[in-house]
Amino acid sequence: MSLNRKATLFLVATPIGNLSEVSDRTLNVLNDVAVIACEDTRNTLKLLSHFDIHTRMITYHNFNEKESTRGIIRFLEEGKDVALVSDAGYPLISDPGYELVNEVIRCGYGIVTVSGPNAALNALVASGLKTSHYLFYGFLNAKQSQARKELEELKDFPYTLIFYEAPHRIEKTLSLALQVFGDRKACLARELTKLHEEYHRGSLSELCNLKDLKGEMVLIIEGKEKQTEDIDQNELMEEIDQLVKEGMRTKEAVNQVAEGHQASKNTLYNAYLKRKKEL
Ligand code: SAM
Repeated sequence: MSLNRKATLFLVATPIGNLSEVSDRTLNVLNDVAVIACEDTRNTLKLLSHFDIHTRMITYHNFNEKESTRGIIRFLEEGKDVALVSDAGYPLISDPGYELVNEVIRCGYGIVTVSGPNAALNALVASGLKTSHYLFYGFLNAKQSQARKELEELKDFPYTLIFYEAPHRIEKTLSLALQVFGDRKACLARELTKLHEEYHRGSLSELCNLKDLKGEMVLIIEGKEKQTEDIDQNELMEEIDQLVKEGMRTKEAVNQVAEGHQASKNTLYNAYLKRKKEL
């Protein structure tokens, strides 16, 4: 590390399956830091060995976050850079690191992120569900009764929802989601960036028929569609009128406005035609 630069914690995203998604910058940082803090040294060793990197590793888990944080701060105090990685994807995203980042901020050392893959975003962009606004929820509680409560809290959220789930719980989670949300559109993305990557797109009831789901998976569910009556009707009509005035066809204008307000296209179209007839 140069003398006039603060010691830095690098938050390094690593591949979620396909090792060729690693960037030159990721490799340079993992080579250059004094130590790599990781969840499981055996997993990170596979990555390091593949790229012939021999940097020292130490462990950093959820269950010893406080203690490992102190250890990492000592490296930074000695002027040594540290990289934090998780088993896959971004550290801190359903993975350890939150305590550490806050302590590093408190102590005034540098923090730099090194971009890379993330399962949630990979799944979201290919799901076919709305991407303009979304909520990343991560894992639901492993207890069914708690998971139900969490889903109840999300029931009226109008934006796309992203969940991580384990294969042995996915069937129960899909049926719970169907009970709480009703038959919304959804997408189950499996084994992203790997040989058997696949997307199951359909309604929640259709996804509930899938059997023997294996591997790593992300579940994306559409948000609650706003009822057209919840939205200021005059505002919507004015927006449609404006687009039509600018030369857009009525149907297209209605679709654009409905999308912008998370409203049902058909209901809005019918309401618009009715309003025009009344005028
Ligand atoms: N930090 C990671 C990230 O940025 O995506 C997530 C870690 S979390 C402990 C692991 C969960 O992420 C898995 O149970 C699964 O839900 C999801 N996941 C990770 N890799 C995946 C992949 N290749 N395909 C689908 N889902 C994946």
